[in-house]
Amino acid sequence: MDPKQKQFSIWYVFIALWAIMLFQMFVTPFFVPTEIPYSEFKAAVAAGRVEEVSVSSTVIHGRMKPEAPPSGETASPVKEGRVFETVRVEDPDLIRDLEKHHVKVTGVIQSTFLRDLLSWVVPIALFFAVWLFLLRRMGQGQGGFMTVGRSKAKIYMEKEVKVTFADAAGVDEAKAELQEVIEFLKTPEKFSRLGGKIPKGILLVGPPGTGKTLLAKAVAGEAGVPFFSISGSEFVEMFVGVGAARVRDLFLQAKEKAPCIIFIDELDALGKARGIGPMAHEEREQTLNQLLVEMDGFDPRVGVLLMAATNRPEILDPALLRAGRFDRHVLVDRPDKIGRVAILKLHARAVPLESEADLEVIAAMTAGFVGADLANIINEAALLAVRRGKDTVGLAELQEAVERVIAGLEKKNRVLNQKEKERVAHHEVGHALVTLSIPGVDAVQKISIIPRGIAALGYTLQLPTEDRFLMTKSELENKIAVLLGGRVSEEIIYHEVSTGAQDDLLKATDIAKSMVKLYGMSEKLGQISFERERQPLFLQSGQPPAPGDYSEETSREIDCEVRRIIDEQYGRVSSLLEKQQGLLREAATVLLGKETISGDELKRIIAKSAASV
Ligand code: ADP
Ligand code: ZN
Repeated sequence: MDPKQKQFSIWYVFIALWAIMLFQMFVTPFFVPTEIPYSEFKAAVAAGRVEEVSVSSTVIHGRMKPEAPPSGETASPVKEGRVFETVRVEDPDLIRDLEKHHVKVTGVIQSTFLRDLLSWVVPIALFFAVWLFLLRRMGQGQGGFMTVGRSKAKIYMEKEVKVTFADAAGVDEAKAELQEVIEFLKTPEKFSRLGGKIPKGILLVGPPGTGKTLLAKAVAGEAGVPFFSISGSEFVEMFVGVGAARVRDLFLQAKEKAPCIIFIDELDALGKARGIGPMAHEEREQTLNQLLVEMDGFDPRVGVLLMAATNRPEILDPALLRAGRFDRHVLVDRPDKIGRVAILKLHARAVPLESEADLEVIAAMTAGFVGADLANIINEAALLAVRRGKDTVGLAELQEAVERVIAGLEKKNRVLNQKEKERVAHHEVGHALVTLSIPGVDAVQKISIIPRGIAALGYTLQLPTEDRFLMTKSELENKIAVLLGGRVSEEIIYHEVSTGAQDDLLKATDIAKSMVKLYGMSEKLGQISFERERQPLFLQSGQPPAPGDYSEETSREIDCEVRRIIDEQYGRVSSLLEKQQGLLREAATVLLGKETISGDELKRIIAKSAASV
């Protein structure tokens, strides 16, 4: 799961020792003679096991026959085919015995050079090879083995940041949310005196390449404060304790330079929920704990603002999201068409274009692209124009650049074709119409068919606060209804469902299960809670939850009840959407054209369609 878990492990030493042992056991005996007592040698000769010997004045070298004698097994330590040596003692019968048992007497059986080589040099060389390999691995990513412990902190500090909000486009909502923070950084004292709520940690959430780093930097640039940055994944490759020391270091340095911004990229690499993953990672946990300690320990009034970026908020340790830590979340979403035009224009500033209008065409082609992709397109197009010896970049180059970038992206499955888009549009409108049709559900903010890698984003961000609220049975049922809206809508329009609703179904089932098993909301099963409060599905550590203490009978009843709840809501949503089929199609068409529509726009569409009937 985590490719960066390359820490030194004691197991490497064990493996190396084991390899040497195997070598000694199975390879060496064929070349390196085993020393045996003379008596044993005589016994072996008498048993007819010896193939050949060479006799000098002081020692006898010999080799066993390759096959065992028919007479059966011997207790000798020298196995068949192996070489041995023994001291030569005064024995007048030696030659006679050798002749009697047809042992070949030859000159040299084994040079001592080869023997020394095999018994000493090879194992030692092997050992050093393994050792070097280990050093190399441990040294990766931190400037060599020897620098470990000196905390060669790769903290990047920019004293004067040149980036400003003008360098980021299509992220107006995020900019607006960050505006207040800039005020704070400019004059921390004044800000707190006037009673502004002082932010401590801001989490930028969004897919890769949407400009999270850019925005964090721009905040520093706008406020004119230093910018410290470090990447979460860099903590993970270190020895235990080093990451924590680095965090301490980082905060010390930052406090000296306050007001300033500390930016942690890839927070998820470091802030994964503790205990998740194939092995609990002690180094990461220590580093995470240190980060929490530092966050709790500093007074925000000194003017140190912590910012972090992640594209996987759902795997973060809940402790990180608690009040007083990263409690402010700013969504940095994929840009809509207008945003894409703005980003393209921004990056095309330094590129001579044939016509500005071309960028609109390109923006229309690139639903789902993030800022980094769009910057890439302009870049590719400029290169293409140069290669063709043109002075300006035209639509042809831009289009070809889009194709190239799409080819790169398609592997990541982010670009929908027209048919898929239509289906997604109906699916999403389905959710939205159900939301608007039943009272007491969170209002629709925005519907979008811009594909996003992190489908569960909106939901996930609510999570930490959600647990604190009471929810009634009908509210939970409404939630299920909204979740089913997408699938029902597909069913009505296409008479066939798709895989697109998997995530919805998972969540709906989860809610229904909780209703039955935790909250005693099933009349059939009564006011019994069958399980302890579970952590949300994705926070559970590897092992399956302990089985509840109820009978198989009950378990079957629970399943039935869960199914009943879902089925009931499915029926309810079906009849709801059936009646609004015309509206459903109408709104989906608008959505297809615009890619994103706000809740208000949807309400207007509804009002218009109601008026025309
Ligand atoms: P993230 O941190 O979200 O992965 P980055 O901030 O590293 O994304 O963005 C990478 C590059 O893509 C930026 O340096 C910039 O050139 C371009 N880019 C991304 N988003 C935007 C945007 N909203 N406006 C302008 N350029 C952007
Ligand atoms: Zn859905």
